[in-house]
Amino acid sequence: MSCDICGAKKSDIKYQVKPKESYINICELCLSQIEQNDPQKLNLNHLRCLDNSMWSEDEAVLVVVYRLLTKLQYQDKMDMIYLRDEVMTWAHYDTTANTHKDAHGVVLNSGDSITIIKDLPVKGAGFVAKQGQVVKNISLDKNDTSLVLGKINGISVYLKCSFIKKR
Ligand SMILES: [Zn+2]
Repeated sequence: MSCDICGAKKSDIKYQVKPKESYINICELCLSQIEQNDPQKLNLNHLRCLDNSMWSEDEAVLVVVYRLLTKLQYQDKMDMIYLRDEVMTWAHYDTTANTHKDAHGVVLNSGDSITIIKDLPVKGAGFVAKQGQVVKNISLDKNDTSLVLGKINGISVYLKCSFIKKR
């Protein structure tokens, strides 16, 4: 199968266009662009492919193209895409809803390293996790998106996402 976004031949990633149970077929490079939260790091050269995929007849593809154009702030091209009202709402869905985010709204993943941004007394452990302390290899609390788990002084502790910053 070829990539629905750029047309690359070897594309075997099924990407869910949240929140719907709709999937499109994409390549690794396009996935990295979709997941890139820093607009400065987008691959503008690669994303020229949107000039083609913006004319797709698949609404799920259009939603992803629209989201990428939004990140790029290509207003002219966003205006050129015709989306039904319902599809426009879909395109504007916050894909980071229900995910763990640090104090600055950056999405956290399991395995990330973080910095503590405020002195935090660790209940029951008798020490304070210091501002500036780095915690490697965090894991995400499955039930609560405001908490992550990390090891400090060899002890697993819960950390509030609002008091940490991704490195
Ligand atoms: Zn692609």
